[in-house]
Amino acid sequence: MHFQTVQVGLNNIFQRFGSPVKGLVMVDPDCDQVVDLAKLTSLDEEHILGTLRDRYNKQQIYTYIGDILISINPYKLLPIYENGVSDRYREQPRTCLPPHIFAIANSAYCGAVGEGSSSSESQCVVISGESGAGKTEGTKLLVRHIMEMCKGHSQLEQQILQVHPLLEAFGNARTIRNNNSSRFGKFLQLRFLGRSVVGAKINEYLLEKSRLVHQDSGEGNFHVFHYMFAGMQPNEKESYGLIEPQFYRYLCSGELPEEQKETLSESFQDLCNAMNLVGFQKQEQTDLLTLLAGILSLGNVTFTEQETSGVAITGQALKWLNTAVNQLGVGTEQLYNCLTSSCSTMRGEEIRKLYTQQQAEDARDSMAKAIYARLFSWIVLKINQLVASKSNERLTEMREIGILDIFGFEKFEMNRFEQLCINLANEQLQFFFNKHVFQLEQEAYQQDGIECDLVSYEDNKPLLDLFLGKPIGLMTLMDEESRFPKGSDVTFVEKLNRNFSNNSNYEVVQGVKGDPKFAVKHYAGKVVYSASGCLEKNRDSLHADIGKILTGSEVHLLCQVFGGKISRTGTLHLPVLKGSESHVVSSKKTVGAQFRQSLFVLIEKMAASRPHFIRCLKPNEEKTPDNFQSELVREQLHNNGLLETTRIRRGGFSWRPSFAEFIDGYGVVLLRPSVARTKESCLEVLNEVALEGWKTGKDRLFFKYWHQDELSQYVLRLS
Ligand code: ADP
Ligand code: MG
Repeated sequence: MHFQTVQVGLNNIFQRFGSPVKGLVMVDPDCDQVVDLAKLTSLDEEHILGTLRDRYNKQQIYTYIGDILISINPYKLLPIYENGVSDRYREQPRTCLPPHIFAIANSAYCGAVGEGSSSSESQCVVISGESGAGKTEGTKLLVRHIMEMCKGHSQLEQQILQVHPLLEAFGNARTIRNNNSSRFGKFLQLRFLGRSVVGAKINEYLLEKSRLVHQDSGEGNFHVFHYMFAGMQPNEKESYGLIEPQFYRYLCSGELPEEQKETLSESFQDLCNAMNLVGFQKQEQTDLLTLLAGILSLGNVTFTEQETSGVAITGQALKWLNTAVNQLGVGTEQLYNCLTSSCSTMRGEEIRKLYTQQQAEDARDSMAKAIYARLFSWIVLKINQLVASKSNERLTEMREIGILDIFGFEKFEMNRFEQLCINLANEQLQFFFNKHVFQLEQEAYQQDGIECDLVSYEDNKPLLDLFLGKPIGLMTLMDEESRFPKGSDVTFVEKLNRNFSNNSNYEVVQGVKGDPKFAVKHYAGKVVYSASGCLEKNRDSLHADIGKILTGSEVHLLCQVFGGKISRTGTLHLPVLKGSESHVVSSKKTVGAQFRQSLFVLIEKMAASRPHFIRCLKPNEEKTPDNFQSELVREQLHNNGLLETTRIRRGGFSWRPSFAEFIDGYGVVLLRPSVARTKESCLEVLNEVALEGWKTGKDRLFFKYWHQDELSQYVLRLS
């Protein structure tokens, strides 16, 4: 983490959050004011924005909106995460304390282990927001607090805490939006038996592997590469065949400032420690680093066009090829051949086709990306093995807390396959969210036996149907076209236009030649997608000859991740590449289909658990503290459906005081020395005020959000 201000002492917590004089109870000085937006008398956009801004300016980054936690990235270390604070959230009820992510961790943990109630049920926490909003830091805080609550000091707890530095080294990178941006989505499941954590499992989604071979200016490659150069001793570098970072094409960001080198060097040590603690073997670690060095060397293999046809690898490039050969443990000739030509068999005859410059570069890059992506998947699988729950005996008694940290809705100048997948995921999450918020409201009515028309809300089901509809949905059409040998991005978009031109959530876009486009009207706004490269990314194919030489690698790890024969661990199940007659092999399922499948599993899991929602907001694009840009926040409120939620609340009966609570607040209206705290007195009050549109339940009243305002005004006029 790169914090910009120094840590402040524990005493300041009390200054901000209440005084220790109050004894055990830590009270938010604002407690009487708004910490729950659902209680705002006026629920419009301006009010919400204003309240969030005021709180943020007072360093109060967390706010509730009913059972949803809103979190604004402070971009500085606030003194609200010390042990003393987490102790308080463990010991005291949520209502006594200011809104906090620890409170969410607490209720998820208590719900999962059955504390404070006779039953336990699995929980899930959905953390959403755009890049840099604080999702990943939030995830870490949640996990930390939950582990502190288990407090078994078990090795497993330590291992679980080390999962983050490990994953971040390989899956995070510096981007314009976030210096530590996760370039993959994850669903982390913690498993509990009784009060103890007994295992964990990670699912990863859509690693942005294109970053390996190309980074936009101002952005970095995956952290691990930068860590290696900063953290390794010269002799170590030499043994891995590494030279200075500026000589590698895949690390075009080049030399790093001195002050960064120091932290990067520490991060390298942290990574090595994490690998040891989680349980990676020495040989595995060495293989891993060797292969990373091999990827970099491979990236330096360039091609010279031949006069007749094809390309050659000569001079310095040939030296790099040889280095890569050593590091990747493959044959020189084979590597040379598969980078410069493709081989296929037709009617039993082997046909070698020479590559153009572009094709050769693509072959090189796709090989590098395939190796990196498989190593990443292997790391996740390996972690899962090491932290898996050991006993399967009491499976039915186990409860889970799932934590989802996944990219929010994305709308850039150029939106591609990746954005399409991410936005589909967000569409599904929004659907889940709406349903949940809506259902809670409904349940409250039912519990109190009141009948009322259900609030309508903008249902995004039609959008899900557009994507996932059977038999024709956008994703199935993409798969169909990906499988079709003559299918291209142009024919794909033509197909979409034919099928969906009458769909109100779809829009035909006149693209320029060679860059076919289409638009989808998402719940969070219209997004124009460029289909260029869509089918290729969806197929995610690797030339058979490349697959073949990697399978035969002498580096055990590489051979293993490509499904080769040697297997010491034996239990890893990575998708195995299949050789085929054609010159292209693809993992059986398309990327889109795999993603859909994992989303389906995810949503099923979430539906079977009690959800908690954390909506993260980014206050500014400059990554600076004390800088709240209203327009930017307003946009996010729109994009992540918070206004919609508020609308549901507004449509529903958001204020539900019990009869007694109501009389305590408004009994004065009857101008009597004492008023019984009963239903009858409540009706008397309401009659007196001539309020309309409320309902009575068995033991509480149901009001619209504006009723409280009207009542207060009436009381004011009385005095
Ligand atoms: P996201 O995962 O949503 O892209 P991160 O969680 O990586 O965003 O947060 C981006 C950066 O913002 C972090 O590296 C850290 O510097 C800062 N940050 C996020 N959350 C907090 C927090 N609660 N307190 C202080 N700084 C934070
Ligand atoms: Mg992140």
